Amino acid sequence: MTKNNSILTVIALGSNLGNSQETLKLALETIANIEGITIKKYSSFYQTAPIGPEQPDYINACALLETTLEPNQLLQTLQNIENKFGRVRQERWGARTLDLDIIIYGDLILNEPDLIIPHLLMNERAFVLIPLAEIAPDLIEPKSGLTINQLLAKVDQTGVKLIN
Ligand code: ATP
Ligand code: CA
Ligand code: CA
Repeated sequence: MTKNNSILTVIALGSNLGNSQETLKLALETIANIEGITIKKYSSFYQTAPIGPEQPDYINACALLETTLEPNQLLQTLQNIENKFGRVRQERWGARTLDLDIIIYGDLILNEPDLIIPHLLMNERAFVLIPLAEIAPDLIEPKSGLTINQLLAKVDQTGVKLIN
């Protein structure tokens, strides 16, 4: 049963080390089993050319959650899962076994040193907007007031391909 105070939230999943598709599947299962989180929908998996340092292609996806966790609790929970999947933090935007970012948390706009919501770069990232448009095209990004489909129309969609 969903509690009344649960917040509709979007997370992005990414991986480009190890068996990335398997990692994303297991990460979704792990998240689904957490008290205070319900997965409402998740997208297909997409293969994405990397940004930043030279590294393998990414597998990316998005999930729509309902959560009773506070934003900081959700971040901590997601970072614990990243660590469980063997993530080692090295260079910024470097290769990783699992990356879990909070993209949207209800209509919250938050600017803390270690947590910015909506995610600072979501509106320019096709690898976030394409999977998200698949599951929540009409969701409103609270900073711009635009829907995911409207944001998607503004970005270059090359380099992100659906995995069959
Ligand atoms: P990017 O944020 O550009 O996607 P990244 O995911 O590679 O880069 P990380 O090394 O995973 O960056 O995270 C760096 C820090 O970003 C985290 O320690 C976390 O405190 C902070 N952070 C700020 N906003 C968010 C957010 N919305 N979701 C997840 N982490 C965030
Ligand atoms: Ca990220
Ligand atoms: Ca991250």
